[in-house]
Amino acid sequence: SPLILWFRRDLRLDDLPMLTAALATGRPLIPVFILDPETEALGAAAKWRLGLGVAHFAERLAAAGSRLILRRGPAREVLAALVAETGAAGVMWSRLYDPAAKARDAAVKSWLKAEGRLGESHPGHLLFEPWTVETGQGGFYRVFTPYWRAVRGRDVAAPVPAPARLPAPEGWPASDRIEDWRMGAAMRRGAAVVAGHIRVGAEAALARMEAFLAGPVARYDAARDLPAEDGTSRLSENLTYGEIGIRRVWHAGMAAHLRGSAGAETFLKELAWREFAYHLMHHTPQILDRNWKAEWDSFPWAGEGPQVEAWRRGMTGEPFVDAAMREMYVTGTMHNRGRMIVASYLTKHLMTHWKLGLDWFADCLTDWDPAANAMGWQWAAGSGPDAAPYFRIFNPATQVEKFDPKGLYRRRFIAEMSRAPGAEAMAFFAAVPLSWGLDPGRGYPGRIVDLAEGRARALAAYAGRGGGE
Ligand code: FAD
Repeated sequence: SPLILWFRRDLRLDDLPMLTAALATGRPLIPVFILDPETEALGAAAKWRLGLGVAHFAERLAAAGSRLILRRGPAREVLAALVAETGAAGVMWSRLYDPAAKARDAAVKSWLKAEGRLGESHPGHLLFEPWTVETGQGGFYRVFTPYWRAVRGRDVAAPVPAPARLPAPEGWPASDRIEDWRMGAAMRRGAAVVAGHIRVGAEAALARMEAFLAGPVARYDAARDLPAEDGTSRLSENLTYGEIGIRRVWHAGMAAHLRGSAGAETFLKELAWREFAYHLMHHTPQILDRNWKAEWDSFPWAGEGPQVEAWRRGMTGEPFVDAAMREMYVTGTMHNRGRMIVASYLTKHLMTHWKLGLDWFADCLTDWDPAANAMGWQWAAGSGPDAAPYFRIFNPATQVEKFDPKGLYRRRFIAEMSRAPGAEAMAFFAAVPLSWGLDPGRGYPGRIVDLAEGRARALAAYAGRGGGE
């Protein structure tokens, strides 16, 4: 009898422990992707991008003599139906670590056990399972540097290549058509614009990694902070859907490091930041929706209002903030320096609750990752573990002079700042909802908040809450 391979955020055939284990059983394999309520709940951009990834992966499986069976509904019900239809011996999957996925997967596993069938979860999304990294006292790490010291020298298993073919069952169960799922429906006008910037699938991800490690990585230490430069790997989009295995990236980065490539060690360290985010989410899932440090519950965070709306629209009059927000609508992602600046500005100059920013990113980013997004927002707000102290407030005006000294990033994304705006600057107006009523002809807006006043207001509120960490 066959085995069901339940694919989620692991849309690849190499460097995949679940597949290695499944092939070792010698059974025919039935790859499945389920549009379940947890997946339906994704933000607009992430859901659209996932749909493209799933369609691409189905083609890749077909080329390997297999298929991807698509079904919609709660995972357990769908899997139960598939097991009944195919007589499958059981189900295998790669682990995920957010609380909703954990609860769903635990329920599936105990149901399979009760049925006397195989239910196996495997690593694959991370280098280090979150519970395997422990402090000397047996607890978890709250600060990155000691975490990094603990993991940097660890052995990472070498990635296993993709099999040429997957053993197919004698007959295939019925499958939905991905077009009918309309996973891009909520993306609206943005899809046509962002489509020019994404790189879908394992082959594209590998090419991206190789191009980065063959050249730009050497300058990564300095260039990674300059948003106008093509100085980072842009692998976040592929890593989040598992279109490239993290072990493959780690080994390739390590090889570059051993070749003496200057920025490679910093790159490996960034990969460890991703691991650290998962470590935190596993041990403290409240990082996703509550102040990690409870003393922030009494902070007078602002909620919805016209200032938040101006932030969302890239119309704050603060060029670094607006360029970065517009970059997100045009490309689907945002440079890390931009993410830090817009998050700091929202939570400090606008004193707005970080959860509003977190949710907005979850809706707009094609590289959305639950753990990295939550850690990033709580870090910027000051409410998280290992966070920047609240009183250290980025000044977006001096930051932009430092990290975009020639104004290239600003002019690339803010049409109102150029006499002859380029295609990407204009694409912003094509990507955002018509209801926003934006028009480049109206000129660039004045600042919605005076930086000195915003800073003073934030610091006063911080002092009022009792100060201290
Ligand atoms: P590179 O510089 O090439 O780094 C390589 C990889 O390391 C990245 O692809 C990513 O997987 C990992 N990485 C790098 N920096 C970080 C970091 N600070 N935290 C965790 N992992 C990191 N990253 C996401 O993947 N998804 C998100 O939703 C996300 N939201 C963020 C929100 C905020 C407020 C902040 C401050 C950061 C957020 N990040 C997020 C982290 C970071 O900005 C992106 O991972 C990075 O910009 C992706 O670009 P890259 O692939 O070119 O990165």
